[in-house]
Amino acid sequence: MTAATLSQPAAPESEDDRPLRPAMLRGLRRRCPSCGEGAMLRGFLKVRDSCPACGESLHHHRADDGPAYLTILIVGHLMAPAILWAFVEFRPDPLTLATIFSAGTVGLSLYLLPRLKGLIVAVQWSRRMHGFGTAEGE
Ligand SMILES: [Zn+2]
Repeated sequence: MTAATLSQPAAPESEDDRPLRPAMLRGLRRRCPSCGEGAMLRGFLKVRDSCPACGESLHHHRADDGPAYLTILIVGHLMAPAILWAFVEFRPDPLTLATIFSAGTVGLSLYLLPRLKGLIVAVQWSRRMHGFGTAEGE
């Protein structure tokens, strides 16, 4: 070991203390990625500044367009083949088809969007992205 190695500051906490899979499952349930108890979201999509149960800081997240992108990706890949299949199989009245698939698309999107936001915030927390790795309160 050289003198330079010895004089380095202590290594940051390892990522093992924030396992990815449990954090993602908690995020999908819209719960705090750290404790799984407190609600991550206030209202429909607003992420709380900190967990009401354990106090973990959540304001560092930068989910941005990620949840919307994933929602469109999933809903599109489910609904596009489904509408094709429904049309070929049943030949429904166009207004019936449009009504059913419009409602289904909106409903599925509204269901998935907050859960995927929780997932993305949880991944960022687990991997210590965007300030999640710094000391509390910074
Ligand atoms: Zn918590």
